[in-house]
Amino acid sequence: MIQVLDKGYVRLVDAMGSDLSVVNSARVSYNKATETLRPEDEKLIKFLATHDHTSPFRHATLQFEVYAPLMVARQWWKYIIGSSHQDPFTAWNESSRRYVTEEIEFYIPEEDAWRSKPENSKQGSGPSLGTPIGAEATKRLLQQIEDGMKNYDWAIEQGIATEQARLFIPSAYGLMVRWYWTASLQGVSHFLNQRTDAHAQHEIQLFANAVKTLALERFPVSLSALLTE
Ligand SMILES: Cc1cc2nc3c(=O)[nH]c(=O)nc-3n(C[C@H](O)[C@H](O)[C@H](O)COP(=O)(O)OP(=O)(O)OC[C@H]3O[C@@H](n4cnc5c(N)ncnc54)[C@H](O)[C@@H]3O)c2cc1C
Repeated sequence: MIQVLDKGYVRLVDAMGSDLSVVNSARVSYNKATETLRPEDEKLIKFLATHDHTSPFRHATLQFEVYAPLMVARQWWKYIIGSSHQDPFTAWNESSRRYVTEEIEFYIPEEDAWRSKPENSKQGSGPSLGTPIGAEATKRLLQQIEDGMKNYDWAIEQGIATEQARLFIPSAYGLMVRWYWTASLQGVSHFLNQRTDAHAQHEIQLFANAVKTLALERFPVSLSALLTE
C-alpha cells in the first residue's frame, strides 16, 4: 500500500498475468509458449508496444483499491475503455454514502499546499502561495467542514434517510471516497500516460504515480514499454 496526500492510499489488491503472459498470448498463433522471460521476449514486448499491437496487453489485469478525494475519483472515472463499469470484463465499485458504513473524512491541504493559478494556462496550478494565504485557506476549509458536518449529524439525528442526509456533507470535492478499480494493463498504461503527466491535476498525479510504482513491480517490462515517459 502506498500512502497518498494526507489520508489517501493506493493498494494493489490482485493481479492476473505477468510479462510472460503478454509474450505467450502474442505467440499463441505460433503455438509456442515459454516459462521464463528471455531477452528475446523482452524485445517482443517492446516491439508490440511500439507498433501498437496492443491486444496481448489486455490479457493482464490489475485490481486496485483507492482512497482519494472525490475530485480525483471523478477524473479517474473518465477512463472508460478497458477500465470501467461499462465494460463487462472490468469494474468500478465505490463506497456509497447511501449507507453510513465508515467515518467521513476529507482531504485537507496543509497550509503550504495551496497552489497559485498558473501563469500561462487556464487549467492546472502554479507554485505554492505560501503560508499566510495557505493558513487562512486551511482554516476556512476546516470551518466549512465543521459547519456542514453539524447539519449532517443533525439530519441523521432527526431520522432523515442517510441517502438524503448526505446532501449536507460539505466540501464534496474533498470528500474521501474508496473504490475498487479493475483494468487491463493497457487501460492502466493509458491512465498513467495521461495522469502522471505534468498537465494533470497535481493530486491525481500523486495517485497515478502510486499506481505506476505498484504496477511496475508486477509488469516491469510490459508497463515500461507502454509508458511514454
Ligand atoms: C489534462 C487533462 C485535462 C482534462 N480536462 C477535461 C475537462 O476539462 N473536461 C472533461 O470532460 N474531461 C477532461 N479530461 C478528460 C479527457 O477528456 C478524457 O475523458 C480522459 O482523459 C480519458 O481519456 P480517454 O477518453 O482517452 O479514455 P477512454 O475513454 O478510456 O478511451 C481510451 C481510448 O479508447 C479510444 N476510444 C474511446 N472511445 C472511442 C470511440 N467512441 N471511438 C473510437 N475510439 C475510442 C481512444 O483512443 C481513447 O483514447 C481531461 C484529461 C486530461 C488528461
